[in-house]
Amino acid sequence: MSTLLERLSQDRRILLMDRSASGRVGATVSQSDVPAQPLPDENLLRQTLDFPEVSENDLVRYFSQLSQLNFSIDHNFYPLGSCTMKYNPKIDDEVAGMPGFSETHPLQPDATVQGALRLMWELQQRLVEITGMKGCSLAPMAGADGEFAGILMARAYHRDRGDTKRNKVLIPDSAHGTNPATASMCGFEVITLPSDANGNTDLEALRFSVGDDLAGLMITLPSTLGLFDSNILEVVKIVRDAGGIVYGDGANLNALLGRVKLGELGFDVMHSNLHKTFTQPHGGGGPGAGPVIVGDRLLPYMPTPVVNRSVDADGGEVYSLDAPVRTVGRMGAFHGNFGALVRAYAYMSTLGREGIANISRDAVINANYILSQLKEHYHLPYDRTCMHEVVFSARNLRRDYGVSALDVAKRLIDYGIHPPTMYFPLIVEEALMIEPTETESKETLDGFIEVMRTIAQEAEESPDLLHNAPHDTPNTRLNEALAARRPYLRWRADE
Ligand SMILES: *Cc1c(COP(=O)(O)O)cnc(C)c1O
Repeated sequence: MSTLLERLSQDRRILLMDRSASGRVGATVSQSDVPAQPLPDENLLRQTLDFPEVSENDLVRYFSQLSQLNFSIDHNFYPLGSCTMKYNPKIDDEVAGMPGFSETHPLQPDATVQGALRLMWELQQRLVEITGMKGCSLAPMAGADGEFAGILMARAYHRDRGDTKRNKVLIPDSAHGTNPATASMCGFEVITLPSDANGNTDLEALRFSVGDDLAGLMITLPSTLGLFDSNILEVVKIVRDAGGIVYGDGANLNALLGRVKLGELGFDVMHSNLHKTFTQPHGGGGPGAGPVIVGDRLLPYMPTPVVNRSVDADGGEVYSLDAPVRTVGRMGAFHGNFGALVRAYAYMSTLGREGIANISRDAVINANYILSQLKEHYHLPYDRTCMHEVVFSARNLRRDYGVSALDVAKRLIDYGIHPPTMYFPLIVEEALMIEPTETESKETLDGFIEVMRTIAQEAEESPDLLHNAPHDTPNTRLNEALAARRPYLRWRADE
């Protein structure tokens, strides 16, 4: 029996219209001192307009309840693999909100925004140091935008050398979908590289695929299987010997920070998602930043602007926005997502050199802890030490009890935990890709492990509990393609 309190705390009237009562008002409007104007022609006017009629109290509760339907990292554990949903320290937002940062205009003369430019210059330097590269442009506004900049640069490099028959880009079968999309947007043909039985790049297939038509390779390290490719030095050598550019998808640097520098492994260009690795609330398409960081070969091609530092006649430092000589151009109207850059800078500053190296230590330990505690319950396709994320497969549950990765993910919602990434990477059937990040405590991880074990047991004992999950949300199972393509964003009288 549901008590009044329970009923009130689970108010399912998702539409404001359902709370409407004719004649109820939520605001008083003061008398206008603007003289009344004649209305347009009668047939241009609506005769009725169905607005919800609610009190201020109704309205506040409505929006407060609505806001609670939105899951975020500030609510609970969010192990969404590859997305790096780590805690975003509030101090970063405070810094980004300081008037000297938040109230500048991108068209202000350089001399009036020296502090903002200095922050950008220092952030470029930090990223260059962290990755072992030579130069950096902060212009790209997302990971995919950074990839686009990087592959445009590779194209410009080959063209400048008159090397125009290089039209193929190699991409491993475990890659993030943005990689092939980027390569084909830049006009290249995508060749898929298989992984070997251990989850590394298949060297035989790689050797077979390279030739004088090779523009480059786009590779994620660690791969999206959560594995460090132990063939990586050989992979880089084969591609470079064939005249190709080696692109590193460094969206998540969580496993590498302070330990491995892609520049030192011979990579030519990479991007890093500041919103993932260096925090910035993201998801739902929120603003991000995907700087491109390059080695010698691509330095002249970086997107505009790059911030430079020089010394004036009095010995003072001067920061300016510049265009590299053979730049591929702008990625957007101005200088990138400045607020995201400030947050990343603040995050690095609070951690310091040592703190940054601890990120990779803790992220990798957390993922391996989950691996070790769940591998009896969920199939582990590659049984080896993982990096910052671990990929399980629910294929054992599907085979034995008819329960899929989707069912497991939906059941997690009932326990108040965000589902992991599912069905990706594509080469693992029934994939569950779990990225705990370094910001979670052992207690949180233990709680998650217990829930995942309980779900595996429920799959055996009462599979329908999983098939029908989630049980406590306003919507249960959506047509996800339609929900993404044609979302209902407003109430319509006729629906
Ligand atoms: C998130 C991610 C991307 C894309 O980054 P966006 O900022 O979403 O464009 C690319 N590659 C990998 C490996 C990622 O995890």
